[in-house]
Amino acid sequence: MNEIIKPGERIGIVGGGQLGRMLALAAANLGVKTVVLTEKEDCPAARAADEMIVAPYRDAGVLDLFSSQCKAITYEFENIPLDVAEYLASRCSLRPGATALAVTRDRLSEKTFLQALGIAVTDFSAISYEGDIKSAYENFTGDTVLKTRLSGYDGKGQALAETAEDALFAYENLGDAKAILERFVDFTKEFSVVAARNALGEFIAYDPSENIHAGGLLRVSKVPAGLPANHIEKAIAITEKIAVSLHYIGVLAVEFFLTAKNELLVNEIAPRVHNSGHWTPEACLTGQFEQHIRAVCGWSFGDIRRHSDAVLKNIIGDEVSDWAQHQKRALRIYGKSEILPGRKMGHVTELSPLSE
Ligand code: AMP
Repeated sequence: MNEIIKPGERIGIVGGGQLGRMLALAAANLGVKTVVLTEKEDCPAARAADEMIVAPYRDAGVLDLFSSQCKAITYEFENIPLDVAEYLASRCSLRPGATALAVTRDRLSEKTFLQALGIAVTDFSAISYEGDIKSAYENFTGDTVLKTRLSGYDGKGQALAETAEDALFAYENLGDAKAILERFVDFTKEFSVVAARNALGEFIAYDPSENIHAGGLLRVSKVPAGLPANHIEKAIAITEKIAVSLHYIGVLAVEFFLTAKNELLVNEIAPRVHNSGHWTPEACLTGQFEQHIRAVCGWSFGDIRRHSDAVLKNIIGDEVSDWAQHQKRALRIYGKSEILPGRKMGHVTELSPLSE
């Protein structure tokens, strides 16, 4: 059943970071109220949500209070403990659902899910103990990337390795018994599709953006991505297949590598609004945050048409002190209380007339 949440009613958001903040702002624009559940009082969403519950996620009493205040619940990050998501889903409509979270929060289950759908992924091996690294290296030649299965983000929880010894050393440093070892992909382009599906079965996809990372951290997203039409079509079809298979409700992002052999590989699925879609509110009639709130509330999507080309740049760490230089661009600063190296502090979007 598609539960409709009307303006004036309240939804919950788990997580109080910048994504929670931008979701709360989008909800406010639609007249929908928000309660944010977070463990940190002074967080970016605190200045945008109608209400905050600052408490540990694991506390059943806290989850009861939170779910009793909301008609539907969503989340801004995928590292929510699965039992918490399942508990919330048993009390209230959780969108996207606990299955989407269960599949995508663990890199191994994500890759096996994609393979079962016939979608190409980077070559990988599951690593449960040191001996697995030696066996994995019998299949790989060249560089690899070791990644923790759970809780990695922005390049954290991963390490590049040139040899089995490097990978062993990195495995000890990760301090995590569950990991995967991937072949290093010499890609010619990295891009993502930010898309959304709702309870009515409607699916929309924004134009893919080319993504440029440094040190595992997204620096720039550009649209158009400079991809041939057949790759765009294929990537959007793959994204739709994933969304349909997960019975997905809300915005998701699928990250791709385009290899030197012209193959498309899926690197990762993010079950949430995504950094590489931060240009969409500025360059399209309806942005990703509003589309997500619409889906959570059981509404149809807004018009997705793109009216401009866009270049999105993340503002990282100390760069936020130079905020004044961005006055003539669309500037978003997240209001984080502490500046740390490698921390996303804001972003800026520059628009230009449509080229394609
Ligand atoms: P991830 O957390 O998996 O999205 O990785 C962060 C970034 O590291 C990616 O966006 C890529 O730029 C890079 N990366 C991750 N895995 C690989 C790989 N197997 N080969 C080459 N680059 C990778």
